[in-house]
Amino acid sequence: MLTKLETLSSPSSLRFPVPAPKLNQRTFHGIQNNQRSSLSLPSLGQFNPIKTAYCIISKQGRSDREEEVDVSKLCLNSNYLDFVGGKKLLSELSTLGIGGPCKYFVQVFNSSQLVSAIRYNCEHSIRFIIVGKGSNCLFDDLGFDGCVILNRIVHLEKIEPGIYRAGSGYPFNRLGIQCCSEGFGGLEFAGGIPGTVGGATYMNAGANGQETADTIYTVEIVTIDGRHQTLHRNDLSFGYRRSSFQKMEDMAAIVAVTFQLKPSASARERQQAYLQRRRLSQPLVEMSAGSVFRNPAGLGISAGELIERAGLKGFSLGGAKVSDIHANFIINSGGATSQEILELIDFIKARVNITFGIKLEEEIQYVKPYHT
Ligand SMILES: Cc1cc2nc3c(=O)[nH]c(=O)nc-3n(C[C@H](O)[C@H](O)[C@H](O)COP(=O)(O)OP(=O)(O)OC[C@H]3O[C@@H](n4cnc5c(N)ncnc54)[C@H](O)[C@@H]3O)c2cc1C
Repeated sequence: MLTKLETLSSPSSLRFPVPAPKLNQRTFHGIQNNQRSSLSLPSLGQFNPIKTAYCIISKQGRSDREEEVDVSKLCLNSNYLDFVGGKKLLSELSTLGIGGPCKYFVQVFNSSQLVSAIRYNCEHSIRFIIVGKGSNCLFDDLGFDGCVILNRIVHLEKIEPGIYRAGSGYPFNRLGIQCCSEGFGGLEFAGGIPGTVGGATYMNAGANGQETADTIYTVEIVTIDGRHQTLHRNDLSFGYRRSSFQKMEDMAAIVAVTFQLKPSASARERQQAYLQRRRLSQPLVEMSAGSVFRNPAGLGISAGELIERAGLKGFSLGGAKVSDIHANFIINSGGATSQEILELIDFIKARVNITFGIKLEEEIQYVKPYHT
């Protein structure tokens, strides 16, 4: 059955066409590039796929394939956004392996699709979250009552030596290894971070005395009303695992990030040493979401050390366990529920507070199942 998106109720799958972006040449300020003086970004003013979109509702007993044929008759191109309703388990999108179904799920492979997905959600008052590798997220067993947008925007451009522009879905570890291999330093730490460029920028990921913010030149975002903006490093503020983006109310998503790195003959060697140290000190083969707590500021002691000294290394609650290898990692040792992880987090906070009078703060991003 074909219907306008507006009349949709609880679909299990819906699709609508994304017109091929008509590219406007928008000047990318600040970067002197001999080969390319401007970058192509889609012009948002030229289409509004939401208003013209038709969708398909998958009903039980009818195959999606049958409906795809119907919808293709209406569309001028085959570049669809595929919204999956009620089926996608968030456990599949998280390195912790925890999370129930989301109401809608869509993957985006380029910025036009991302803008279309954002516009669709905004125009239909559906709350949404953008997810990279889910390596810093704790999803709830109850799922998410909105739309999860999985970021698969994975392009990488070398603008000039040492300047890399990466799609926000590009694997951050791959970028780190690549830059170091090509003789540029600044992202040595990134080789061991299993997230995306967008997630690392949003979280200001860091390790080994380095952090993402140190290498950022510009960040391209899309706002909730679908506008592209390019923000320069000086427009942004970063702190320990904090970025302006965490408080930017009109930002919908980071689309691309340009990094400016310094030539370094020893970068690759350093990056390999960091990775080796990480292999020995972190539970990399277990399911986790990295460090659960931020290190307390100005105390000279890490959250992991505090948890260990509080006697909680190896402590478990159901399937949720404080890692035997690194006490700031909670691992899903098998069948852990989100509730068990949350209870263990509360237990650790209470114990560290009682023992040392220090209040730990979560670094992990808990995604609430319902809007409250
Ligand atoms: C084994 C392991 C080791 C780790 N080691 C480190 C470490 O050393 N240092 C460190 O800092 N972190 C570490 N982490 C945590 C994690 O990998 C980083 O925070 C990473 O940058 C998160 O990226 P992601 O794509 O997985 O983000 P996700 O977990 O998918 O998302 C995290 C947050 O960022 C937001 N976000 C993601 N993409 C975008 C986007 N394009 N636009 C806007 N918002 C976005 C999400 O909405 C969410 O709020 C580790 C994790 C694991 C599992």
